[in-house]
Amino acid sequence: MQPLRGTKDILPNDIILWQHLYSKAVEILSLSNYHEIRTPIIESTSLFNRSIGNGTDIVNKEMYSFTDQGERDITLRPEGTASIVRSFISNKLYQQNKTNRLWYLGPMFRYERPQHGRQRQFHQLGVECIGSINPMADTEVIRLATNLLNELECTEYKIEINSIGNLKERNLYKESLVKYLIKYKEDLDNDSKERLHTNPLRILDSKHKTTQEILYEAPCLKSYLCSESIAHFDALCEYLNKLNIEYNINNRLVRGLDYYNYTAFEIKTNILGNQDTICGGGRYDSLIKQLGGPDTPAVGWAIGIERLLSIVKNNLDIKKKNPQVYIAIQGIEAQTKIWDVIKILENYKIRFELDLYNNHLQKQIKRAYQSNAFICLILGDNEIKKEEIKLRWLNKKMQKTILNINLNKELKEIFNTNKDLTKSYL
Ligand code: ATP
Ligand code: MG
Repeated sequence: MQPLRGTKDILPNDIILWQHLYSKAVEILSLSNYHEIRTPIIESTSLFNRSIGNGTDIVNKEMYSFTDQGERDITLRPEGTASIVRSFISNKLYQQNKTNRLWYLGPMFRYERPQHGRQRQFHQLGVECIGSINPMADTEVIRLATNLLNELECTEYKIEINSIGNLKERNLYKESLVKYLIKYKEDLDNDSKERLHTNPLRILDSKHKTTQEILYEAPCLKSYLCSESIAHFDALCEYLNKLNIEYNINNRLVRGLDYYNYTAFEIKTNILGNQDTICGGGRYDSLIKQLGGPDTPAVGWAIGIERLLSIVKNNLDIKKKNPQVYIAIQGIEAQTKIWDVIKILENYKIRFELDLYNNHLQKQIKRAYQSNAFICLILGDNEIKKEEIKLRWLNKKMQKTILNINLNKELKEIFNTNKDLTKSYL
């Protein structure tokens, strides 16, 4: 049996990185009053059709959709923002706070061609700052993304930002872009040809060489922006400058989701090859109203966790923890007596592994060495008779037999007072 194409198991050796990321996210995001939210993985298909947009790659060809037994059209969420907005509206979160700062981490599903950095089930960590039109909110979320990346020792990244204006400005621009591109229709790549009718802005994002050459002379979105859009963008740039957050303005940057306006940004690294974007985000001031909620502006981003972890895993020295104590037992009686010993270990928060095979002691001790524990506790019939327990140091030739009643004291001494000796095992 194999996992489905484009899906991966995350095994215990890797989970340790995920746990680290999660705890850093809690630490950093809660400082700025962002609170975690968990929404269902399945939602009505119409939620994504209505928010992400019909001409987008996600809605056109990437969604995992099905009809359930009750004839409902359901989709495994391809991204987080639509679900958060749905939840914001269904739970009337706007009644409780003027600003809702939320974050999430969870699996997303897109039917894409699996390749390095591109899976069909992948994970995103995202933040949404809902309620404010102030460019300070854009600044806050971008700053948080950099805080998180820096804290995870991911430093090789570049921020690209752009303003894609409001709907009216974009529609005017779209018209003149199409007018310009239609002259070169035959030379455009096939995807772009198609997008000329479905989603012309996405052509700006084309990686195709000839298409890019054609775009050099194309009208620029920036010249279609009115003073409000420009003022918002300028303010954001000014704040980022003040914060010494480096960025490039990329006039061609557009995002693959329809709901963005004003600010659009991406964070890229040069480490990942083709799949080089680790974070994408922007402002979405009309989405909440569009989905039936109150007119509420918002801004947010999402980081692709698999891509981020593939960069940081070599920098971070985080390994699965070994047990500190291995417990070898022999005989029927030891199987009931050992729980008292385990209780003591638990009290001292000493990590342990109990051998469950009750076979030859030598075999158990061999497993003790393999476990990389520091000490092996041995409790067999002999020890029980004398109310003793044996301690064997696994990193040197040393063994000691002590009375049961002294175990507490002994463990305390080994693990608390003799820190140097045990450091590498803690
Ligand atoms: P891309 O251009 O790489 O397809 P996107 O614009 O579709 O990215 P977003 O929808 O903005 O991506 O999602 C934010 C982030 O989630 C991306 O920058 C990326 O790190 C990650 N991501 C998106 N799709 C996948 C995928 N199929 N597999 C792994 N990570 C992904
Ligand atoms: Mg994509």
